[in-house]
Amino acid sequence: MTADRSVLPRQCRGQAGMPHEAPHTAPPCCAGPDRENHSGKDSTGSDAGSDAEGQRNQAVFTPDGLTARAMGISCAAACNPACSDPELRRLLTASGISAWQTDRLREVLALAAEASPYYRQALQGVDPASISARGGLHRLPLLHADVLRRAPLSLLCTSQDDVARVVTLDTSGTSGRPKRLFFSEEDLNATVEFFSWGMLSVGHPGDTVLAVLPGERPASVGRLLGTALENAGMRSVAGNMGQGAPALARLAHTEKAAVIVGSASHVRHLALAWQQAGYDPGSIHTVLLCWDSVPPAVAGLIRRIFGCRVLVHWGMTETGLGGALGCGHQGLHLREADLLAEVIDPVTGTPLPDGQEGELVITTLRRRTMPLIRYRTGDLARLLAGACPCGSPLRRISPGRGRTGEGITLPDGGSLYPADLDNILLPLAGLHDFEACWQPWAGTPLQITLYPAPAAGTDRTLRQQAEKALADSPLPAALTRHGGTMFHVARTAPQAGFGKRRIRVIPQGTPPLNSGESYHEQLP
Ligand SMILES: [Zn+2]
Repeated sequence: MTADRSVLPRQCRGQAGMPHEAPHTAPPCCAGPDRENHSGKDSTGSDAGSDAEGQRNQAVFTPDGLTARAMGISCAAACNPACSDPELRRLLTASGISAWQTDRLREVLALAAEASPYYRQALQGVDPASISARGGLHRLPLLHADVLRRAPLSLLCTSQDDVARVVTLDTSGTSGRPKRLFFSEEDLNATVEFFSWGMLSVGHPGDTVLAVLPGERPASVGRLLGTALENAGMRSVAGNMGQGAPALARLAHTEKAAVIVGSASHVRHLALAWQQAGYDPGSIHTVLLCWDSVPPAVAGLIRRIFGCRVLVHWGMTETGLGGALGCGHQGLHLREADLLAEVIDPVTGTPLPDGQEGELVITTLRRRTMPLIRYRTGDLARLLAGACPCGSPLRRISPGRGRTGEGITLPDGGSLYPADLDNILLPLAGLHDFEACWQPWAGTPLQITLYPAPAAGTDRTLRQQAEKALADSPLPAALTRHGGTMFHVARTAPQAGFGKRRIRVIPQGTPPLNSGESYHEQLP
């Protein structure tokens, strides 16, 4: 697959700033983004609270311009991401976006009902004209991930010749079959375009960006981001956690990275190594956290070490990798040119009002090869009501603690998610990483293996710190009541891959773990 490198409009590429050009030769209409306005203390994009108030970035949130362009709106900001054209505020409105989404939605419904064997049956009797982006969606059936495992080809609306990339997602599910998704060249280019414009809200032309993301396969997120950065006039440096955090920190330092992109857990490792190496804070102005959940305490640690702002991106393969991007205020702005989002009750499937947490459901609006209509993402989130202080009319989501089914159910009915433990334990500087497993049928249901950082103190000190952090946390008391938590310290940390963090549930019948012993699942 070769992604189109001309995703920024040709007439804009000069203004967007290629690597050797003056980065901000914006057209006369533009004030240009306020490059100096990095507060150094933006929000994490989660509900940790927005502390960017009073230090607002006056520049247009660049995905706004991209949305305007997709909608055929003619204004300078729809041509040039570096442009703060005030016309955009007048022309791009929430109601306009909603009306445009309704038109795209009806087109997708008509196409799917005609061309896809699955949707032909699922959408029988549905009149697209009776459905709009903000009304009647509940009359459409929900699409379960299981269809992507059992019969992904039945969702295709075009010939298989149009498929440029097949993504096979191995999941921790028990079905045994991976999910399969099919993307056309056009779909991949749309992702590159979203990344390009999005990164121009994160960094600036001329910046070097260190991306710690999977990038080995063609059209993987790392490769697509690399192309997007090049198109945006930024320099891309690829990093891999396999190199080790000290080597990555050295790489960021020698390459003079201004932006780091990666998961919260990986960037935390990098930040601690950066600190230990004694590198000066200040050269990195923004960290973009993505890929996995972002515990506020980890975002805070990263922000403190680098003295930078921390932004968040949410996305998944099913959304075409790009999904929603934080602007520095509360929540993440959705990629509304491509996605229609809803939140439902994960048990009943009933739509939930804005502000209420549930399962995020998405409908793709411009994909023709394999459209997803009311796809249950499994991710917990809520839609935020009201306007964002940044001025963007794009709706916002606030990601929840994780995915449905990812948390463990506590004896009192409460729940515990991997992100909860990350939030409690990962701020400990002496901790390299940890693993948690849950065996509710045993005397000690939660066992946590601590892996000390190289320069950590004694095992005993680390264990005491972890015990105190857990005791001071708002974790449900039931966890403590039901046998408590056992900590032990191990010296050999597992290789940090790109797998999502989770709490391992050990099946009944497995002998209880002893201190220092790890549990390894048997793979089928
Ligand atoms: Zn905003």
